[in-house]
Amino acid sequence: FKRSLCPPPSTGIGRDTVKALRDSGAQVVAVSRTKEDLVSLSKERPGIEPVCVDLGDWEATERALGNIGPIDLLVNNAAVLLEQPFLEVSKEAFDRTINVNLRSVIQVSQMVAKGMIARGVPGSIVNVSSIVSRAAIFCLTSYSSTKGAMDMLTKIMALELGPHKIRVNTVNPTVVLTHMGRRVTNHTELAKYLKERTPLNKFAEVEDVVNSILFLLSDKSAMTNGSGILVDGGYLAC
Ligand code: NDP
Repeated sequence: FKRSLCPPPSTGIGRDTVKALRDSGAQVVAVSRTKEDLVSLSKERPGIEPVCVDLGDWEATERALGNIGPIDLLVNNAAVLLEQPFLEVSKEAFDRTINVNLRSVIQVSQMVAKGMIARGVPGSIVNVSSIVSRAAIFCLTSYSSTKGAMDMLTKIMALELGPHKIRVNTVNPTVVLTHMGRRVTNHTELAKYLKERTPLNKFAEVEDVVNSILFLLSDKSAMTNGSGILVDGGYLAC
C-alpha cells in the first residue's frame, strides 16, 4: 500500500482526504497544527501517523517532517484565509499567508520529492488551489496571490519533477462549506453572487474535492501532469 502525507487533517477537505486515503488502504501521515484535531482523527481512523506542526514555521516543519521516511503521495492542503481590502493589506497578514499557503508547499514537497528520487520510485503530488487563482474576489489579495502562485509553482514542479516520474497537479475548487468556506458565505451578498454565477447553481461538497484529489493521486491520472481539475460547477467557464 502507498504511504501518503496529507497536511492538515483537522477540518474539512484535509480531514476527509485523510479518511478516504486510510479507507482505501493507504498508510497516512496526517499533519495539522491543532493537536485535538489529530487526536479525534486518530480515534476515527486508527493507524494514521499524526504530526502536529505549524507549517508556516520553516524550522519547526523541518524538525517535524525532516525525517518523515518514505512517502509516495502528498497532498498540500493547509491554508489560511485572512481577508483585507487591498489598500489595508498588512505585512503580517501577507507574510503569514505566503508562509503557510505557499512556502510550506515548496518545503514539504522538496522533502518528499527528494525521498522519492533517492528511492527511485514514482509519485504524485496534489496542491489544493482555488478558483481564486484565476478569478478575482474582493478582499482576498493575500490568499488569492498564493493560489495564483501555487498554480504556476505546480507547473514548474511538474516540469522539473516529471523526469523523475513524479506528477504534480492542482485541484481548484469553488466555495466549499467548511470552516474556511463559511467565512466567504457569511457575506450574504457575495455568496448569492457566487452561487448565481455558477452554472450548476451550487457550491462544492467536500466529497467533490476529495474525489478529484484521489483521482490525481491515483494511477488513473497517470498521464496528467502540471494540470489542474476545476471543481467549480462551471464558474470559470463563464
Ligand atoms: P479549513 O479551514 O476547514 O481547513 C484548513 C486547514 O488548514 C485546517 O485544518 C487548519 O488547521 C490548517 N492549517 C492552517 N494553517 C496551518 C498551519 N500553519 N499549519 C498546519 N495546518 C494549518 O479549510 P478547507 O478544508 O476549506 O481548506 C482546505 C484547502 O482547500 C485550503 O488549501 C483552501 O485554500 C482550499 N480551498 C477551500 C475552499 C473553501 O471554500 N473551503 C475553496 C477553494 C479552495 P488549524 O485548524 O489547526 O488551523
